[in-house]
Formats: sequence, C-alpha cells, structure tokens
Amino acid sequence: MATTVYDVLRRKGSGVIAVSPESTVFDALHTLAENNIGAVIVLDGPRLVGILSERDYARQVILKGKASKDTPVREIMTTPVVCVDPEQTIEECMALMTDKRFRHLPVITDDRLLGVLSIGDVVKALLDEQAFRIEQLEMYIASGG
Ligand code: AMP
Repeated sequence: MATTVYDVLRRKGSGVIAVSPESTVFDALHTLAENNIGAVIVLDGPRLVGILSERDYARQVILKGKASKDTPVREIMTTPVVCVDPEQTIEECMALMTDKRFRHLPVITDDRLLGVLSIGDVVKALLDEQAFRIEQLEMYIASGG
C-alpha cells in the first residue's frame, strides 16, 4: 500500500513552526536556525498566509541589498502556499515538489494545519517504502513464488 502524508506525519509527529507576517526577517531566520529547519509557515492568527524559506532570504533580502532587521516577513514570503491533504501519497508530494521546485509542503485538513513535510521527510518515506517492497519481493522469490 502506498505511504500517505498521514503515515509520515504520524511517524514524525505533527507540530508546526510558524512566524507572524509582521515579524522581521531577522527573527524568522533565528527561528529557522533554532529549529534547524529551512522554511517557516507564516500565520496571521490561525490563517496560513505564506511560507518563508532560506531561498527567499537569499534572493529577496541579500541580493536586493535589504536589511533583515528592517524587512518584515510579509514583504518577502511566498503566497499563495501549495498544500497537501493527509490522504495524498508521498509519490504525489514528490511530484509536486519536483514540478514546482520547492522543498516544503504544509499539510491541511478542514482548514486545520497539521504539519509540514520537507523534501527530506518525503525522500526518507519513499526509500523506506521501496526497501519494504524489495524485502517483500525477496521473501516471495525465496519462497519459490
Ligand atoms: P524551498 O525549496 O522550500 O526552500 O522554497 C523555494 C521557494 O518556494 C521559496 O520562494 C519558498 O517561499 C517557496 N515555497 C516553498 N514551499 C512552498 C509551498 N508549499 N507553496 C508555495 N511556495 C513554496
């Protein structure tokens, strides 16, 4: 059976690291560093309004000669955010990430933010799924089919 987003979240645990659109980019970078992650969700109250990744900082702040302490997150975050629901498969997530060229996918159900999958989570889940399939096939072959 195909691994779903829900399976991965259950293993890794939910919990979302977020910042407000009015935070400074500097504070958001601190949040990234403290949590050892590459992107944060931007929440305005309960509403998901954007996503900010290290790439946004590199391209929208450093290259444009702006200062991270004077730039609010809302000015450089990406919006709208592409999300997945928990029933989707990790193959679908990988296809989305490859197609859209980003490495993070928030998981939403009934307007509730359940977690975020990174490309690392997705690659690990795909490798685990393939290893399991190979093991099953080897057992099948060893048993004489
Ligand atoms: P990443 O590869 O995730 O570091 O992000 C690359 C670019 O895509 C950055 O501009 C991010 O803000 C943006 N981005 C990342 N994830 C998403 C997403 N799920 N939906 C929309 N944009 C995103």
